[in-house]
Amino acid sequence: MLDSLPSFARLVAELAKFPGIGNKTATRLAFFLLRQPKAQAEALAAAIHDLQNNTRFCSVCFHITEQDPCQICCDPGRDDALLCVVEEPQALLAIERSRSFKGRYHVLHGALSPLDGIGPAELGLDQLAERLNTEPPAEMIIATNPTVEGEATAFYLQRMAAKHG
Ligand code: ZN
Repeated sequence: MLDSLPSFARLVAELAKFPGIGNKTATRLAFFLLRQPKAQAEALAAAIHDLQNNTRFCSVCFHITEQDPCQICCDPGRDDALLCVVEEPQALLAIERSRSFKGRYHVLHGALSPLDGIGPAELGLDQLAERLNTEPPAEMIIATNPTVEGEATAFYLQRMAAKHG
């Protein structure tokens, strides 16, 4: 049925790539977008375009940012003595929402998973080691996820922190 509607089918195929979205939901979303005023659909397209063009990783902590270094790295009110290592930017945002931490961050964008070919180099642990060398924090808080990979990463980070005193 979608063969005669290539533009519609293309949007459904793109939406179905989202995590947790199957073909059925993708079709429902495509119909929703079709019924929206044109300006609304174009605003969504522009937001996706801007996200890709304006957002990058902070060169210091690797959090997502529109300015480099990011706001957190530039904030003089943050405590340099505390460094919190997280797997994903979402974890950083959750900690920020809790307002319980006033130190700096380092975002790994994953966890060690040798079977998937994700080793220390892929996680940018060299950059983290470099940070520990140049501006060693008094305390490193390891906030990786409670998964096998997260635990392995935490263990690796502990040894790394011990090596840097
Ligand atoms: Zn940063």
